[in-house]
Amino acid sequence: MSPIDTSAARFLGSLPGRRKAELHLHLEGAVSARTLVDLSLRDGTGLFPSLAAVAARVPPGSPGQFLELYRDVCRHRRGPAVDARVARDLVRRLSRERVTRAEVYVSPAILERLGLDYGEIAPALEGVFARFEARTGSRVRILLDSVRQWGPEAAGRVLDAHERVPWRRVLGFGLGGDEASLPARDFAGIYRRVRRLGLAPLVHAGEWAGPDSVAEALRWLRPVRVAHGFRAAEDPALLRELARRGTFLDLCLVSNVATGALPALAAHPARTLLAAGVRATLSTDDPGLFRTTLLAEYRALARLGASGRDLRAVLRNGFDGALAG
Ligand SMILES: [Zn+2]
Repeated sequence: MSPIDTSAARFLGSLPGRRKAELHLHLEGAVSARTLVDLSLRDGTGLFPSLAAVAARVPPGSPGQFLELYRDVCRHRRGPAVDARVARDLVRRLSRERVTRAEVYVSPAILERLGLDYGEIAPALEGVFARFEARTGSRVRILLDSVRQWGPEAAGRVLDAHERVPWRRVLGFGLGGDEASLPARDFAGIYRRVRRLGLAPLVHAGEWAGPDSVAEALRWLRPVRVAHGFRAAEDPALLRELARRGTFLDLCLVSNVATGALPALAAHPARTLLAAGVRATLSTDDPGLFRTTLLAEYRALARLGASGRDLRAVLRNGFDGALAG
């Protein structure tokens, strides 16, 4: 890995004071260690009995450990009060890092699996985000998402929930989960409905699955932004296509190492993406589970050899890639 370039070091020094955008951030992944311990003691699951117990599992290090951690975190979600508390953790992080524009994934599909009611959770989250906005002047917008391996039916029910529970803060729809489970074309009808509903199409691809998963997503779903998408770097023609379309890649460098998607930061092809003219943004993905911050993400990009100019462009992309509204 390269030593940090002087212009990048200067930029990093100024970064805490700059306004930032973060477009790839999952609600449940923003839970703080303290909240996890408190919830765990209150609800009797005993899954995270102490801060040391959290630290032993965060960050996870392998795909299996990540999935187990994610599942255990979700086991504490019991209703609107818990989700509102996690949302308060999230906005505290945003304040601390001077993130003035955030887009947060909320998954009605996971709520449904947990037996929770999106119609009750949405107003509780709205209260937290509205108060945060009034206090800070920052903006939080919501991206609904579904889980790819649960199929188009589950995704359709997410859109049903959106129609049933209108929430003005919702601007986009995305797909997460196992990228290798079902092909993008299975969701083409869902994404047509996404557009009809006036939502922006987004998708997780090119993290676990190869460049084809990104190419297929572009072809069938026409996303305005791809979450991760870094495996596109393996296919020069695909890189040209991403640059031509102006599709943003919402990169999360620390996350990719923490989940085991990449063996080490040095393996991240972020510089290849930037050199190809692909518009990249930086986010933390699940800051509570990966013990990362947005500043750490920019530092990681600098360690990969990005210049001050590259970092400034990525910062700007965060605002340019934000959805209108
Ligand atoms: Zn993600």
